[in-house]
Amino acid sequence: MRWLQKEVDSDTVPAPASGPLDLGPSGGPTAPTSGHPQPPLGTDSGPSGARGRQEDAGRLVRVAHMLQGCRTLGPGARSVVWVRGCARRCPGCIASPILDDGPSLVLRPDELAARLLATADEGVTFSGGEPFEQAQALAAVGHVLRASGRSVMVYSGFTLDELRSSSDAGVQALLDVTDVLVDGPFERERQADLLWRGSSNQRVHLLTARYAHIASSLDAAGAGVELRVDSEAGLFWAGVPERDFVGQLRRAAEPFGIILTGREGVWA
Ligand code: SF4
Repeated sequence: MRWLQKEVDSDTVPAPASGPLDLGPSGGPTAPTSGHPQPPLGTDSGPSGARGRQEDAGRLVRVAHMLQGCRTLGPGARSVVWVRGCARRCPGCIASPILDDGPSLVLRPDELAARLLATADEGVTFSGGEPFEQAQALAAVGHVLRASGRSVMVYSGFTLDELRSSSDAGVQALLDVTDVLVDGPFERERQADLLWRGSSNQRVHLLTARYAHIASSLDAAGAGVELRVDSEAGLFWAGVPERDFVGQLRRAAEPFGIILTGREGVWA
């Protein structure tokens, strides 16, 4: 199944972090940032407020990009959904192309769940953007996937404590269907080569017993970056890259006569 999902109604190639070639991961997948303090949940900058500004936020998922069969953003082969939108604006966030409203694939939770279940992947990883800004709809997706034996992993710029202290029912619902949570924003000064995350402040939380068998492996080195070539999106990557990954890639390609160019690291 071909499944690199290009945004609808757009002539541009989206550049979600850790997705199609962007200049870095989305915090792992919630975008790496300079580690600026985060606003608390329940404010206009948090999931509740942001969702309140979206008329359909509780019912629909705004997807910037999707990928299937990814092995660098969670255990096993996973579908990855980069959701659009994040109200927090951490300085240095490199997921900026998908932080605002823009061309998106807007799906009902059952539609997105059906697409995910049509793959052979063992689960889904929600990245962004900030998945907890669309928590209610993503929780519905996660519920269907979990009922079908698939696993759910979520990246968030919020910490687990912040999420757990939220009074937002959608936030709690998404936590309830999450097997693995990678929390906290990327902090450039704490960048490290760590499994599924970009900086040492970020934590991998096993919220269910599903992946208890990998608990002793979470301090391993990073899972690397997948590079793919797609006729629609061009060259893109998925994963948590090392510092100057794009520069390294550009320099490595040049001896072969391959010149990588593009805006915001999107090389199409
Ligand atoms: S929380 Fe939002 S602004 Fe901050 S790093 Fe993540 S995606 Fe970027």
